[in-house]
Amino acid sequence: MESQIRKFAANTVSMSVEKIKTEEKSLNFLEEIVEEDLASGKYKSIVTRFPPEPNGYLHIGHAKSICLNFGLALKYGGKTNLRFDDTNPVKEDVEYVDSIKEDVKWLGFEWSQELYASDYFDQLYAFAVDLIKKGLAYVDDSTPEEIAAQKGTPTEPGKGNEFRNRSIEENLDLFAKMKAGEFPDGAKVLRAKIDLASPNMHMRDPLMYRIKHAHHHRTGDAWCIYPMYDFAHGQSDSIEHVTHSICTLEFIPHRELYDWFIDKLEIFPSHQYEFSRLNMTYTVMSKRKLLQLVEEKMVDGWNDPRMPTIAGFRRRGYTPESIRLFCDKIGVQKRENLIDLSLLEFCVREDLNRNAVRRMAVLDPVKLVITNYPEGQVEELIGENNPEAEDGGGTRSIPFSKELWIEREDFMEEPPKKFFRLGVGLTVRLKYAYIVKCTGFKKDDAGDVTEVYAEYIPESRSGHDTSGINVKGTIHWVSVQNALTAEVRLYDRLFKVENPSNEEGDFKEYINPDSLQVLPIVFIEPALAEAVPGAPYQFLRKGYFCLDENSSSDKLIFNRTVGLKDTWAKEVKKG
Ligand code: ATP
Ligand code: MG
Repeated sequence: MESQIRKFAANTVSMSVEKIKTEEKSLNFLEEIVEEDLASGKYKSIVTRFPPEPNGYLHIGHAKSICLNFGLALKYGGKTNLRFDDTNPVKEDVEYVDSIKEDVKWLGFEWSQELYASDYFDQLYAFAVDLIKKGLAYVDDSTPEEIAAQKGTPTEPGKGNEFRNRSIEENLDLFAKMKAGEFPDGAKVLRAKIDLASPNMHMRDPLMYRIKHAHHHRTGDAWCIYPMYDFAHGQSDSIEHVTHSICTLEFIPHRELYDWFIDKLEIFPSHQYEFSRLNMTYTVMSKRKLLQLVEEKMVDGWNDPRMPTIAGFRRRGYTPESIRLFCDKIGVQKRENLIDLSLLEFCVREDLNRNAVRRMAVLDPVKLVITNYPEGQVEELIGENNPEAEDGGGTRSIPFSKELWIEREDFMEEPPKKFFRLGVGLTVRLKYAYIVKCTGFKKDDAGDVTEVYAEYIPESRSGHDTSGINVKGTIHWVSVQNALTAEVRLYDRLFKVENPSNEEGDFKEYINPDSLQVLPIVFIEPALAEAVPGAPYQFLRKGYFCLDENSSSDKLIFNRTVGLKDTWAKEVKKG
């Protein structure tokens, strides 16, 4: 199964852009359900919700859920609520609420209402009282261990205890006292009275409320009892008249209970549907694990560009379009799968190739001296900003002079046969500028090349070339006297194994020690002084980059979003 999906991802990557663009996608199973429900008149319009727990930053898995929930409502003219599932006071925080709102907006979606499960605490309490009055819920004084033991096993029915037969009056009284704060944490719970022999363990008198004397980020100290997920989620859906409540596969066994509560409470019949969560190679995707990386300072916060969080991708230079494209491509399945990270990288390249402004930067510099170029002369050459854009994206001027920085790897002392760059006697075109012929080089005592010499052909200027000379290679460069400097941060996968959560021991042992490489001094063309955060740049031949949020005019910092090609695919082929 796993390999199938990997193959699927690989196939998708190798499909041509045109094919992907024009490919008719058949309806996914949720779209089929919604179309049926609308056609049969079951609903006039649909309501979905995205229900994050504000206990961490959103990750790319959440993006899948967001695209799905908002996407369905957009496609079928319905609406989507953003509902914070904030029923657990201990782990939740306003910082997370704010970041979640920012991320959903950044992805390009607008919610119909911003809602909080904690706003329903009164209503949920009333629902619980209703079930007690119907003889369908009771207060249990057992310890968690006793409850677990009495629950039985999947093959053995559970056993009831003395509390199960409490009278309705006693239950009402005790539940009111629980709410009033008369008992310590864990002293009592409220349970639904369903079926201790049910083959579904979730139906064996599940917990509805627990006592927790804890401060809540919205309700303060108003409550010391908090509803469990199963007694909050479906009811919140129902209160909001959510028609299609979409969640991930692990909630399949909860569906029976979801339906039972709604049925017994006789409230709006929301329905739960499950799809498989997104898992991606070389990544961990649980907030709990991501929080560990943050707290143990293994990354630079939730928005470290190596994190699979939306905030991390944003800082790294991913665009909302690329993430939406990715979510669209992976589609919606009912079976667990593992998606290749390279598919996401493919999607971001797609978008950036079309939209990134082209600039030149020399990451690993060596000096090229053009010996026949007049000393002190500076020519302002013209370069198109984006050859992929219809109008070329405008132009910028690029200063050219006698001394240039070029990439060290673009010169070789003893070039092999098909090396179409510089080596003594070889010719190459300097992008936007002239053809040059390499005439020599200089080395230091350590044997490292310090300068390369060349002569330029004055009549070969790009756009005005009358030289008649054909060259096979073009290299980028930056004029030494005009260059700006910047720090460049190159990122690699955060983990060195495909599925760190599946490995033995702690997932943190599998962190890739080379996931961040800092180049302190990189020479960049002067037009990059105007770089703005959030705008994508292609550094010619070097990849896509964006300005880091900590960049300043005194110290420019660029993050590499992704390389121009999938270098990992090559490595796999090499074996
Ligand atoms: P995590 O396990 O990472 O903490 P969660 O499911 O506890 O995730 P929630 O805040 O409860 O996080 O999730 C909000 C919504 O996003 C839920 O509907 C959940 O099903 C969905 N979601 C979470 N992780 C993924 C994922 N990897 N793929 C798809 N949807 C996901
Ligand atoms: Mg959760």
